[in-house]
Amino acid sequence: VPELPDLEYVVPNLRSQLVGSRIDEVRTRQPVVWRVAVPGTPDDALKGRRFSSVERRGHFVIFMLDPDRWLVTSLMLAGRFRLASVGEKDEGSLCAAFRIGDRELRYLDDLKMGKLYVVPAGQTDRVPGLDDLGVDPISPDFTRERFRAMAAKRRDQVRVFLMDKSAIASIGNAYADEILFAARIHPKTFVRSLSPELLDQLYDSTKRVLDEACAEVLRRGAPIDEKVRDFLKVRNRKGEACPQCGTKIRTTGVRGVDAFFCPQCQPATRSQFVDFRNLENTSPVGREAFEVAPAPPASGSRRRGGSRR
Ligand SMILES: [Zn+2]
Repeated sequence: VPELPDLEYVVPNLRSQLVGSRIDEVRTRQPVVWRVAVPGTPDDALKGRRFSSVERRGHFVIFMLDPDRWLVTSLMLAGRFRLASVGEKDEGSLCAAFRIGDRELRYLDDLKMGKLYVVPAGQTDRVPGLDDLGVDPISPDFTRERFRAMAAKRRDQVRVFLMDKSAIASIGNAYADEILFAARIHPKTFVRSLSPELLDQLYDSTKRVLDEACAEVLRRGAPIDEKVRDFLKVRNRKGEACPQCGTKIRTTGVRGVDAFFCPQCQPATRSQFVDFRNLENTSPVGREAFEVAPAPPASGSRRRGGSRR
């Protein structure tokens, strides 16, 4: 699942490798990924055009081509790009390939859920969701004031809010969990129940978690089709010890998707504190923390206030 920190690494990489070069041929292995809004086949629509830029908008990657074409890609859950040499064996997940001299830009997608849109340059309204993107959380436009104003209108759970691409463009499952862990907020908490202090904490955590992840993915310098996630603290770590308190990471369903969280660091309500103590699944560290102090003094009163609804 490419998320912003992945794309912030992949997009400049593709830009530096592709800008100035020309598409000689387009091969299609999985027609289901194409959405072509101009006459002809993908090959007709793209062959002979040159890459003038590669840009990210939210979770979309846009290949700008001269003359007058954009290839807009939405990678969804499993889409990724790879630069291969012509003649290299096709990957099982190969959906489409763009030949550029002796290289190929390949679009791989095990789930075939991603989409490749071909539109006249700038016609963003032809791509569902592209014109509806909210504020980019790693741009200067993502200000505390703007975040507060958006949150004030929300009637949903905090994880749903973070992942609403028309509000914030774009946070996926992995970083939603990491941000909520950093902010010490349970994923099912309703936005309107968050105190101003907790909302500020959520804003700060969003910026910090994404900034740090961007820096880490960049530092690793992995191949662009590889997803670097081993530094995440709670995502996909069910049953492992929380790095803060040692309690076992748990999951809870939010809109049918597993959210990973630490029940000690991200308590939902007072009653759930009692439930978790009885469940015997906390480590000695977690249990001691519970018995001595149910919540850190600095945030405990806010949290209790926040869950009284
Ligand atoms: Zn914890």
